[in-house]
Amino acid sequence: MPDQPPGEAPTTGVVRRSQEQRAQAHPAATPLRCRHCDSPDVEITPGKYAYALHCRACHGSAPLKVRCPACGADAKLERDGARFLAHCRAGHRQLYFTNP
Ligand SMILES: [Zn+2]
Ligand SMILES: [Zn+2]
Repeated sequence: MPDQPPGEAPTTGVVRRSQEQRAQAHPAATPLRCRHCDSPDVEITPGKYAYALHCRACHGSAPLKVRCPACGADAKLERDGARFLAHCRAGHRQLYFTNP
């Protein structure tokens, strides 16, 4: 029985620890921002089926998901001139956004 040397096992185990700490901003009362370029220079435009958020900086648009500012529930948007009110099932009706 020949004496076999043990195979070389590389023991360069570099343990990488990425300590990501994501600072979560408050979801409530955040101004609307463009999903593409993060610009706050946005306006709400009525779309075919739903309202969309149109960015005046990059001219991108994204469907708008409206949440009630008071309770966070899904809300419908009511247009009043340049102002948009969020109206939720619980009966809240609050100013959601004003178009520039
Ligand atoms: Zn943009
Ligand atoms: Zn509400």
